[in-house]
Amino acid sequence: MMLKKFLFADLDDTLFQTLEKCAGRAALEPAAYYSDGSVCSYTTPAQRAFFGFINEGMTVIPTTARSLDSFERVSLGFNSYVLLNFGGIILQPDGGIERDWQGRMHGLMTAALPGLQALAARIDAWAARTGYAGRTRLVEDAGTPFFIVVKDPRKITANLETIEREVVLPWIADGNDGYCVHRNGNNLAILPASLDKANAVAYVTERLRREHGEIITFGMGDSRSDARFMADCDYAIIPRRTQLSRLTVETL
Ligand SMILES: [Mg+2]
Repeated sequence: MMLKKFLFADLDDTLFQTLEKCAGRAALEPAAYYSDGSVCSYTTPAQRAFFGFINEGMTVIPTTARSLDSFERVSLGFNSYVLLNFGGIILQPDGGIERDWQGRMHGLMTAALPGLQALAARIDAWAARTGYAGRTRLVEDAGTPFFIVVKDPRKITANLETIEREVVLPWIADGNDGYCVHRNGNNLAILPASLDKANAVAYVTERLRREHGEIITFGMGDSRSDARFMADCDYAIIPRRTQLSRLTVETL
C-alpha cells in the first residue's frame, strides 16, 4: 500500500512572492492580490512547475500567517485543511472553521492579550518619542486577537531590527518569556508563545493519521518561524535565497 503524503507549505516567500523579490521578471503570473484588487504576489515558472509537481503526488496544506481574508485573495487552488494566522485558525477541507481548535486558541489568546497590548503601547511610545512613523497593529481574526505586527512605512528593515533590539527583546527579557518575536524582511511580529504553526501542524497531523493511518509529512517554508513545524515533519523543503536557507544549508 502506498502511504499518503501531505505537504504543510508556508505561502508568502515560499510558493510566491512580491514583484521586488522575484529573481527575474519573465513569465510571472499573479498568485495573490491586495484587498483593492491589485496584484500583491507572483509565481515564477519554476514555482508553478513545482506547485504542479507537488499536487500530483501529495496533498498541499497551506500553513501561513495570512488571515481568513488575505488567504481568500490567494489564487492558487487548495482542497484540504488550511492553517491560518500562524496556526491560530484551522479550516477544515469543507472550508469551515475547526471549532474545537478555535475554542482552545481563543482561551489561550485572550489570556495573552494584555501582554501584547502592553508591548504595543511600549513600541508606540518609543515611536512617538523618536519620531518614528511606524505603529503597531493587533491582528485579530474571527473574533480572536492573535499577534501584533509592525511594518516599516518606507520598507527600511533596519528600523525593525532597532525596534526589536531596543524595545521588544528587553521587554521579553523583563519577565515576558511567554512571547516570541519573528522578524523577516519588512515584518516584525510578536506572538504569544502558545501561537505556533507547529502546534496546529501537530493537531492536523494527528487527525490525518486517524483518517488515513500511517502517512508521510513534508514541511516547507522560508522563515525562521517555519523551522519548528518543518522539523516535526518527516522531510523539510527549503527554497533557496530565503532567510531559512541562509541560516541553515547555505551557511554550512
Ligand atoms: Mg513565508
